[in-house]
Amino acid sequence: MSESSSAASRPASSKKGRGSGKSALSRHTAVGPWVIDCLNLARRPGLGKSYQRMAPATDGFSFDVIGVPEGAEVELDVLLSSVVEGVLVTGTASAPLTGECSRCLDDIEDQVQVELTELYAYPDSATEASTDEDEVCRLVDDLIDLEPLVRDAILLALPQAPLCSEDCPGLCVDCGQKWAELDPDHRHETIDPRWAALMKRVGGSAELSEEN
Ligand SMILES: [Zn+2]
Ligand SMILES: [Zn+2]
Repeated sequence: MSESSSAASRPASSKKGRGSGKSALSRHTAVGPWVIDCLNLARRPGLGKSYQRMAPATDGFSFDVIGVPEGAEVELDVLLSSVVEGVLVTGTASAPLTGECSRCLDDIEDQVQVELTELYAYPDSATEASTDEDEVCRLVDDLIDLEPLVRDAILLALPQAPLCSEDCPGLCVDCGQKWAELDPDHRHETIDPRWAALMKRVGGSAELSEEN
């Protein structure tokens, strides 16, 4: 590469790939906020580089009840360390959450932060050779795509039954109003036929809506 004098003024994605035209093309199209180019890091154990960046969440970052809204900014703070087997990614990702309380159905706004630790193995490394295809991340063209890693970590961290507060009392099962806004002795006169007869006898004022 003899074009270093002009490289500074070019966007990073226009850096020349090492190999064929095909590889260079995939590098061009792949680089984005989620993808980190490790060309200067790969195969140089001991080197490390930290990255702080924002990347937009795709629609895969949430479940029905809670998640990171599509397009919301995920804050990445990661360190990429070149090791013998590949590139080790450590750090954190944090993002805003929106959802619905599973008890009272109120909107929830929250924040999620996850720890990341993942080795992206070189295609020809011992790690790669000794593990199943699904079990190890790979460096492809010296690029690391953080999106699947961060997405899975966030999905794992999401509560299955999100709550607006730890002790949310939920809704009255009869009228659907929030217990938080109801009188403590709020109740509905649901009258068991056995009680109805008794109440009639004691002259209770309960009105029976149904005679049978
Ligand atoms: Zn609630
Ligand atoms: Zn009620």
